[in-house]
Amino acid sequence: MIRNGDVSFWYADIGHPPRRPPLPGDRDADVCIVGGGYTGLWTAYALLRERPDLKVVVLERAFAGYGASGRNGGWLSDHFSGSRERMAAAHGRDAVLALARTMRETVDEVIAACEREGIDADVVKAGELKVARGPAQAARLAALVAGDRAWGAGPDDLVELDRDALAQRVRVAGATAGAWNAHCARVQPAKLVQGLAAAVERLGATIHESTTVREVVPGAARTDRGTVRAPFVLTCLEGFTATLAGRRRTWLPLNSAIVVTAPLPDAVWDEIGWASPAVLGDMAHAYVYAQRTADGRIALGGRGVPYRFGSRTDVDGRTQRATIAQLTRLLRELFPATASVPVEHAWCGVLGVPRDWTPTVRLDRATGLGIAGGYVGNGVSTSHLAGRTLADLVLGRDTERTRLPWVGRDARRWEPEPLRWIGARLVYALYRAADRRELASGSARTHPLARIADLVSGR
Ligand SMILES: Cc1cc2nc3c(=O)[nH]c(=O)nc-3n(C[C@H](O)[C@H](O)[C@H](O)COP(=O)(O)OP(=O)(O)OC[C@H]3O[C@@H](n4cnc5c(N)ncnc54)[C@H](O)[C@@H]3O)c2cc1C
Repeated sequence: MIRNGDVSFWYADIGHPPRRPPLPGDRDADVCIVGGGYTGLWTAYALLRERPDLKVVVLERAFAGYGASGRNGGWLSDHFSGSRERMAAAHGRDAVLALARTMRETVDEVIAACEREGIDADVVKAGELKVARGPAQAARLAALVAGDRAWGAGPDDLVELDRDALAQRVRVAGATAGAWNAHCARVQPAKLVQGLAAAVERLGATIHESTTVREVVPGAARTDRGTVRAPFVLTCLEGFTATLAGRRRTWLPLNSAIVVTAPLPDAVWDEIGWASPAVLGDMAHAYVYAQRTADGRIALGGRGVPYRFGSRTDVDGRTQRATIAQLTRLLRELFPATASVPVEHAWCGVLGVPRDWTPTVRLDRATGLGIAGGYVGNGVSTSHLAGRTLADLVLGRDTERTRLPWVGRDARRWEPEPLRWIGARLVYALYRAADRRELASGSARTHPLARIADLVSGR
């Protein structure tokens, strides 16, 4: 019997945390943070490390770490979503290089913060392996590597792997080439977010759980338990942003789902040859991402059902049976040696996707309203940079971070329903069809269906 939902396996691993008390009626604060995931908590952390005297209140609908921050694939990577070329056209090449450098530093800063705060989140910085299955994926991987090189990736940052070199690191069925990126660590997401919440409380923040924010207006967050009045109100809801009044079309809550196996016997690990805990992904359009957990399981994720009508979200991470079957099939396909190892747990969650697939962090000083998110699946690290940047903006500081090209930007809104639903379903149907046809044909060309999907999605 596969356990489905219960937020995520990561909580089955450590136990669900006891709930903190809800907001006990109206309150005043210096800064009110809406959402108790990585973004909100890193913001509180950065603010209170700089200004311990501030009254910082975090409002959380369920419990801190209930959302994507307690459910993700555990890739703490230097990836930043969005087109470097588009950003360079608007801000110049140096601005994009500064952002890339900051993202690399961010990976190390999160690791340093864990060490400083005594957070044991199974963190190992062993890099990221990208594998290409078939000629089309190999061509895309070569283009990706060439692109990273053109943007300054040196031989220590990125290593190309031919079939044999890849097999030394991991044996994925049908893989013909790979690449290893040094700037990525594996984490246990729930351990990270729970440790972070405790660190934030030690610094003096108050986290109110079981408190749903209904509306954010200048100077106040209105909840089902009362109103928090504060000169700064920061919305840190990522995939849940659509739950706020007036925010339904800001970011699309894109679904992602994960299955986790039972611990693999040593003989199976030997066969797979995945000895280091480097995280692993492929180059499919509907790509998979995986990690080797600290206790020797494989956690493998993918898109599943991409989007629910009306920007609805799942209930406690419960995912569709078809998604579990699809991810299990992929797991067996990539690692045939796992055939006899059961899948024990499956769950899903939502991440936030802006219309132009590029994240945002901004604060309007006139209203005191701020927002950060839209990381498109790269939020484990980007949320840390977002938190530090929001803190700089609140404190009125002009720093290297506040000058980065993603600060202050905005994307246009998503289309109203049913267009949003039709578009999201269509895009992923096209990506999956393109993946199947590329593998079947053996062609090195990216299938035209994927190009149509890119056009529709605005990627
Ligand atoms: C399955 C999955 C796998 C992923 N894998 C990776 C990965 O490997 N690497 C990576 O970099 N990124 C990954 N991501 C994305 C990453 O996890 C997120 O971008 C990141 O956690 C976002 O953090 P957040 O704090 O902004 O949002 P969240 O963690 O979603 O936090 C938002 C919080 O707000 C609360 N909330 C919702 N509505 C309200 C309301 N009305 N009032 C008050 N509180 C509310 C929620 O309960 C939640 O706790 C993944 C996401 C998913 C879903």
